[in-house]
Amino acid sequence: MAEQFDVVIIGAGPAGYVAAIRAAQLGLKTACIDDFKGKDGKPALGGACLNVGCIPSKALLDSSKQFWNLGHSFEVHGISAKDAKIDVATMVGRKDKIVKQFTGGIAMLFKQNKVTPYFGTGKLLKDRQVEVTAADGSKQTLAAINVIIATGSVPIQLPFAKFDGKHIVDNAGALDFNETPKRLGVIGAGVIGLELGSVWKRLGSDVTIIEALPDFLAAADADIAKTAAREFAKQGLRIELGAKLSKAEVKGNEVHLTYTGKDGEKQLVVDKLLVAVGRRAYTDGVLGDGTGVKTDERGRVVVDEHNWTGIEGIWAVGDCVRGPMLAHKGSEEGVAVAEIIAGKDGHVNLDTVPWVIYTEPEIAWVGKTEAQCKADNIPYKTGSFPFAAIGRAVAMNEPAGFVKVIAHAETDRILGVHLIGACVSELVAECVVAMEFKGSSEDLARIVHAHPTLSEAVHEAALSVDKRAIHKAN
Ligand code: NAD
Repeated sequence: MAEQFDVVIIGAGPAGYVAAIRAAQLGLKTACIDDFKGKDGKPALGGACLNVGCIPSKALLDSSKQFWNLGHSFEVHGISAKDAKIDVATMVGRKDKIVKQFTGGIAMLFKQNKVTPYFGTGKLLKDRQVEVTAADGSKQTLAAINVIIATGSVPIQLPFAKFDGKHIVDNAGALDFNETPKRLGVIGAGVIGLELGSVWKRLGSDVTIIEALPDFLAAADADIAKTAAREFAKQGLRIELGAKLSKAEVKGNEVHLTYTGKDGEKQLVVDKLLVAVGRRAYTDGVLGDGTGVKTDERGRVVVDEHNWTGIEGIWAVGDCVRGPMLAHKGSEEGVAVAEIIAGKDGHVNLDTVPWVIYTEPEIAWVGKTEAQCKADNIPYKTGSFPFAAIGRAVAMNEPAGFVKVIAHAETDRILGVHLIGACVSELVAECVVAMEFKGSSEDLARIVHAHPTLSEAVHEAALSVDKRAIHKAN
């Protein structure tokens, strides 16, 4: 007899494990299946985010930032730190410890909340049965009233630059180099390319990023992308736009690249190549015959606005469905589905999902860009304010960047906020709240912001929408 659950979740990434905890909190008998193994070969909950994504990359970004600052910004504070060295093994070891702490933390939360974990590969069968195949090949079947598919995404592989885990790597490989590569090639100037390219650049790599699109950071607001390009160039990150890789050959300990750029065909030799050209929804082998669950042309599970697949009791959340591939979006979908299953009103507003790129300066935004407002024929006005005129930013020696608020020209409702600068990953939260509460630029402008803080840039940008910023000419 198959063990019976109220909810069985396939995948324990940030979408799946959060759904499991919320479902269990709501009194539902919950199981969560995952087959991810950590570096020690043991089960590791948390999916790509905790094991090879958000958390480990932030650990390395922080270590590399400290090292970079030693050589580049300590001097202005009157601090000299000559001959600073970085021990890459210690840095990677610290990252691994953090990952273990957090993956272990989820196992503990499962225990506290009485979520039953299954270590193995989950496959949805007909009639809401789920087959679990353990690492030794043994199988068992679970029966559920509801199944949530939360199988995430995997890096896209280029046929002419296949991952070998040693010279040509994905994000996971680029988090585990045992020494700083002298020359690092990166394919794709997206979120991963910029974040991990920054890590190794700060540690001394000669980094070249090859990006197929002619525009830099096409998803961001154009003004933000322009400032980002200027700041990254100052740091020595070489970014070639409109460049298409055609060949990557491993020769000895080198990777020989052939690509076509603006000036024709070019060659580049690097020691490591990171391919970061996006991720694809992972649903391979997850859907058994006759389940009725549909996937789209990109392999994503088709769902409605409530993450329902259209098949009774079958839901899907996170990277394996439409919408941005962001951990926090997946987590909120997990919560919403658990609540809907429990008879509550779960909902996720995809229009106010914040984006963050953890480079230096950081980049963050919520809502529409100016280009999107134009494309949608929405009349708008903007106000912006530079961190160079914010006392706290200058005191921190972090004057780069600005905040831009876009508001409806007639109603003043905030349509988008775009930030580049120190700690904007935190500042964007205020803007999300304002948008979620359908706030206007005047609302933001009338709120008291602590002085001296970086948040004053948000305040002044909002004031600037109506040309009443205090600390700049309007
Ligand atoms: P991405 O979509 O952010 O960027 C991929 C880039 O590669 C794009 O600019 C694309 O134009 C370019 N590209 C595609 N094919 C190419 C080719 N053949 N040659 C050269 N360039 C090519 O994808 P990513 O950086 O791989 O990240 C994957 C996913 O993970 C994204 O959806 C991202 O949102 C998510 N992620 C988010 C964060 C964060 O929120 N801070 C961090 C890491 C990853």
